[in-house]
Amino acid sequence: MPYISILYKFLLFDFAFLEFENILVFWYNLVIMENIERYKHLNKYLKEKFGERTLKICIDGNFTCPNRDGTKGFGGCIFCSEKGSGEHIKSNKTNISKNNVEFISNQVIDYFNSYKAERANKFIVYFQNFTNTYDTLENLKLKYDSALINDRIVGLEIATRPDCINEDIAKLLKSYSDKYYICVELGLQTANEQTGVLINRCYSNEDFTNAVSILNKYNIDVVTHIMIGLPCKDNNYLDDIKVTVDFLNKHNIQGLKIHSCYVVKNTKLEELYKTGKYTPISLDQYLEACAYVLTHITPNIVIHRISGDAPKNLLVSPSWNLHKKWILNGLDKYLKENNLYQGMYYRKH
Ligand code: SF4
Repeated sequence: MPYISILYKFLLFDFAFLEFENILVFWYNLVIMENIERYKHLNKYLKEKFGERTLKICIDGNFTCPNRDGTKGFGGCIFCSEKGSGEHIKSNKTNISKNNVEFISNQVIDYFNSYKAERANKFIVYFQNFTNTYDTLENLKLKYDSALINDRIVGLEIATRPDCINEDIAKLLKSYSDKYYICVELGLQTANEQTGVLINRCYSNEDFTNAVSILNKYNIDVVTHIMIGLPCKDNNYLDDIKVTVDFLNKHNIQGLKIHSCYVVKNTKLEELYKTGKYTPISLDQYLEACAYVLTHITPNIVIHRISGDAPKNLLVSPSWNLHKKWILNGLDKYLKENNLYQGMYYRKH
C-alpha cells in the first residue's frame, strides 16, 4: 500500500519549480521518509554531521539584552520571561567573577560532572538566554573561551538578536571554526512588521536580512527562531505565519526553531491575556500552523524544534504547552494522516 500512495503522489506532483538538489530531497522525503520521518530532525542531522549522538550544553553567559536596558527598548519582547528564556538552565549566580569566566566555566564543569555527560561523547556549547553577542568583543571572546574547556566539545552555538550581529562579531565567531562547528541562532519570531511592533521586538526584518547576509559571508550556519500564535491584527495568526515562511524562504538559513507563543508570569503578554486582549491558540490550531510551516519551508532546512519549552512553574496559558509529547506525536499524526512532508509546497523565489 505505501508504494501505491508514493506512486499516486508522484503522478500528482509538479516538479517544474524545483531545482535538481530539491528534487533529490523531495524523493528522499517521499520514499525514504514514507515510514521514517516527515521533516529533517536535528538529532539525526547532528548524528550524521558528527558521526555519533551529539548533545547541547545550555549555558547562561550572564548577558542582558538591548531591548531591556533601553538601548533599543525597555521591558523586552512582550513574551520574554525575566530570565530571557533561560529558565531551564541551572546556573549559580552567586558565583560570578568580574568577567564571568568562572561562572561560565563552572556550568560546563558541573555538566561534565553530572550524569548528563554520560549520554553522549560529543557536545555543543549553547549560549542560550538573552542576547549572547551583546558585549564588547574582548568580553565575548572571554566568555566563549571560558565555555570551550573540554575535549568533548565540538561546537559553539550562540543565540542572539539580528541587530546584534556585525562583521567584527562574525569574524570573532569564524575564528573558532577551525576547531569547532559554529552556529548562530537568530530570533525573528515573525516577518510581519506590524506584529513585530505589537510584540515589542525592536528590530526590523531588514536587521534580520543584514545579519543573515553577514553570517552567510563568513559561512556560519544560521538557525532562525519563529513563533506561532503571537498576538497579531485580527488574531490572524495563519496569515502571519504565511508571511514569515515566505520571508524566510528568501534567505539562506540552515535551521529552524518553531515555537508556540505561550504566556508566562510577569510579562506584558500576561497582562494582555488577563485583560482579555490576547487569547493563545489551541493545540489543534498550532499543529495545523506548524504543518503549514513544514510543508512550505525549504526542504533541506534542519528543524531544530517544533515546540516551546514552557517552564512549568511560570506558565500561565495554554496548558497544552507542558505536554511536549502531545505536540510531537500530534504533529507526526497530523502529517501522516494528511500525507504531508517538509518542503512539499515549497516554491523557489
Ligand atoms: S530579544 Fe530575546 S532576550 Fe531580548 S527581550 Fe526579546 S526575547 Fe528577550
